Amino acid sequence: MLRLFLLAGLWFILAAMSAHSFAVASERKMLVEIEIKAPADIIHLKQIGVDIVTERTRPPIHAIVTDKQREELKGSGWASHVEIEDLDRYFKEKINVDGNLGSYHTYTEMVDELQRVAAAYPNITRLVDIGDSWEKTQGIADRDIWALKISDNPEMEERMEPDVLIVGCHHARELITVEIPLAIIRTLTENYAVDSRIKFLVNHREIWIVPMLNPDGHVYVEETDSWWRKNRNTNGYDNVSHQGVDLNRNYSFQWGYDNIGSSPYPQSETYRGASPFSEPETQALKNLVEKRHFVLSLSYHSYGNLFLFPWGYIKADTEDHATFQKLGKMYTRQNGYTYGNTKDGIIYKTNGEMNDWMYGKQKSKDRVFGVTIEVGNTFQPPESEVPEFIRENVTPALRMILAAKRLKP
Ligand SMILES: [Zn+2]
Repeated sequence: MLRLFLLAGLWFILAAMSAHSFAVASERKMLVEIEIKAPADIIHLKQIGVDIVTERTRPPIHAIVTDKQREELKGSGWASHVEIEDLDRYFKEKINVDGNLGSYHTYTEMVDELQRVAAAYPNITRLVDIGDSWEKTQGIADRDIWALKISDNPEMEERMEPDVLIVGCHHARELITVEIPLAIIRTLTENYAVDSRIKFLVNHREIWIVPMLNPDGHVYVEETDSWWRKNRNTNGYDNVSHQGVDLNRNYSFQWGYDNIGSSPYPQSETYRGASPFSEPETQALKNLVEKRHFVLSLSYHSYGNLFLFPWGYIKADTEDHATFQKLGKMYTRQNGYTYGNTKDGIIYKTNGEMNDWMYGKQKSKDRVFGVTIEVGNTFQPPESEVPEFIRENVTPALRMILAAKRLKP
């Protein structure tokens, strides 16, 4: 065990200094399942900079590694099995089948779809530009973060109707998390005139949907690196290995509480940024939330078949634990996902993430029941599997929107 600690320590220093031999864009990357002996192994793996792709604490633990890194893991006593041998090739063959992400939406296709829906259903929708991406703030790209509001009287703020927020794609490579919010949009708009239950939801809720919070990162996945996670802030570095902020570690509540739940190093996949809300993408969400009266938020990530709620930064329950559990039970009844928080031991500690801020920050805004859904059990499911992941999440999401009425801000 001591050896492991020493090795971990050494790697950590090396990673911090030269930073990362790991992420050189030209090296082949593979998806592996790492055999762990105890949950603490995962913290070691994270500390030495291994890019673990799920927040689960229980096997299978999947990570993205280079050949060299896999050898190093083996040398340190961690065996691994290859799941996907060449992620770039997998991406080209299974995901980016037509050079346009196949049936997944590119950023451009998503904007087109939102505009099409807004034009087709003007009486129940309003398309709102809630802020710029980091690259837009630097004048190097022209990407906005878009929210579609769905409600009757969409131009009005109707205080009697609970506000619900649905967000996708904090993490660029989690492509399925754009598709589920878009599917919820289609379900609500296309069925409004023909399904009385949908009509009820739209008429009695204010539903805000942000399908892609991280447009720069998503476009980087489309064009350059299929495994990119963070936004595209350069952090002042030319070297791509030091670029990007993990948007879901950049919220202000308990930001940087420890270095396990987020990282102070730019080269880490969980780099929390220079300061709370340092990123324009998280600021955009903050501004939206502070101006409204949300009671519930659903944030989509992948993957893990999980439904997660606060606290994330410590192993403890909130005062509203029973309510969160009810929501979890409701969402997972059909899809069989596991619900819980860090205290339940199904997920690692994370700090500066959205749910803790949604729920924990209660002065500048209302208390919001913030939950995360980790969709599915595979990394970037092939497009043939997308409809199933949509199916297993849309009905539960509608149930949550209905339940929002019972949540007091
Ligand atoms: Zn994620």
